[in-house]
Amino acid sequence: MTAYPKVQLHIDGEWRDSRSGKVLEIINPATEEVIGTVAHAEIPDLDEALAAAERGFALWRKVSAFERGKLMRKAADLLRSRADAIATMMTAEQGKPLPEAKMEVLAGADVIDWFAEEGRRAYGRVIPARADGIYQLSLREPVGPVAAFTPWNFPINQVVRKLSAALATGCSIIVKAPEETPASPAELIRAFIDAGVPKGVVQLVYGIPSEISAYLIPHPVIRKITFTGSTPVGKMLAGLAGQHMKRATMELGGHAPAIVFNDADVQKAAKTLAAAKFRNAGQVCVSPTRFLIQERSFDEFLETFTAAAKAIKVGPGTEAGVAMGPLANERRIPAIEALVQDAVGRGAKLQAGGKRIGNKGYFYEPTVISDLPRDARAMNEEPFGPLALVNRFSDLDEVVEEANRLPFGLASYAFTGSAGTAQALGARVETGMMTINHLGLALPEVPFGGVKDSGYGSEGGSEAIEPYLVTKFVTQTGI
Ligand code: NAD
Repeated sequence: MTAYPKVQLHIDGEWRDSRSGKVLEIINPATEEVIGTVAHAEIPDLDEALAAAERGFALWRKVSAFERGKLMRKAADLLRSRADAIATMMTAEQGKPLPEAKMEVLAGADVIDWFAEEGRRAYGRVIPARADGIYQLSLREPVGPVAAFTPWNFPINQVVRKLSAALATGCSIIVKAPEETPASPAELIRAFIDAGVPKGVVQLVYGIPSEISAYLIPHPVIRKITFTGSTPVGKMLAGLAGQHMKRATMELGGHAPAIVFNDADVQKAAKTLAAAKFRNAGQVCVSPTRFLIQERSFDEFLETFTAAAKAIKVGPGTEAGVAMGPLANERRIPAIEALVQDAVGRGAKLQAGGKRIGNKGYFYEPTVISDLPRDARAMNEEPFGPLALVNRFSDLDEVVEEANRLPFGLASYAFTGSAGTAQALGARVETGMMTINHLGLALPEVPFGGVKDSGYGSEGGSEAIEPYLVTKFVTQTGI
């Protein structure tokens, strides 16, 4: 077993405690035991981080994309070589099953590799001029020091996309990583530092999120912010960024429809979607949530899906065969309980689960509720937990209306045997991402992001490089 580390800040090339010496405690969600501490940064630490990021940017922007890419690929290889130890830390702090944690670390390495390559393709343009001897150049330059705020559900994945895009384009970065799951993202940063990324390029801080964002976002050194988390917090931070004219990327909440038509392979749909729903105990922004099943297939889907939910082995993420760990923190338990009670109180049918498991560790049963009225809270608020809502629909128009009813627009899922229906869904559902007849989201090379209240900007694909670059137009002629 890897021991859980004492997690420190990384500022100006140094791993260190906060100047005040303050720490926050880390709780293992499977046992409720305190397993360690994380350094708690305050304003003096942030001032040092900002000064270092400014120096780091001046230095890093001059390093060629080719050299930056080489260092990044070295970091990716270090991460791969340390995957087992890092996965153990992630499971201890976050709760997810060990194989999922390891997969997240390895997928993180793939993200780094991809951005390392893509950074070399941040091309500008030469625009034909109206007169002979004039050159018109559109240059792509790094935006500047970035402040990144990331949550606890995917401690590495949420950091690595932001960090890799920033480094690939020549930006420096201050990462405010999640206080509840700090060790695995610290190991990600360590891979970059050990690979030889110069001091000042990457800073890592933890503390009180609202204090840190309120200080960093308006600060003149910071030129761009990027946030993953809930829609209300995202709106607040985007407002602050707007006031200070800072670029922003917002990856916020979702409430994904999962639509199954009569002409689909209903068995495959039910089994595939059940695995997707309960992954990471449903604490996933793209988790399928509103299962909308065409009437004739409703009973078959519900039966297979409910059986799959009941068969999920819940337990500590370190135990072999466990498919779902505890919820990541204590406050998710009352949050899910309230949604279940509200739905059942409004006449919905509880098909599976619906309660906490035991009273040690934040375990909650995989839960399936059907026949919900539209005004049930869970049909409108992101559950962010192991809660599946199964309702029926009659035709395409009705299901498109339901899919688009909420202000969210992050991921959507559909199963159908008809090419025409697939095409109509792709065209009509208001969503940032749609995966039809399989699960195909979140690879490094494809766009990842939402529309409407789910935010703006992309964290995948070549689109993810753009927000870290600014355009400078230069025109010149001979003297
Ligand atoms: P929360 O809204 O308090 O926090 C969500 C995230 O934002 C956390 O990482 C938190 O540290 C951060 N945060 C909160 N206030 C902040 C501020 N003023 N400045 C900077 N960062 C701030 O809720 P929570 O209890 O941690 O999580 C529950 C909700 O958050 C869920 O219902 C879900 O909607 C959302 N969430 C979304 C994602 C995602 O992947 N999009 C991840 C985690 C949480």
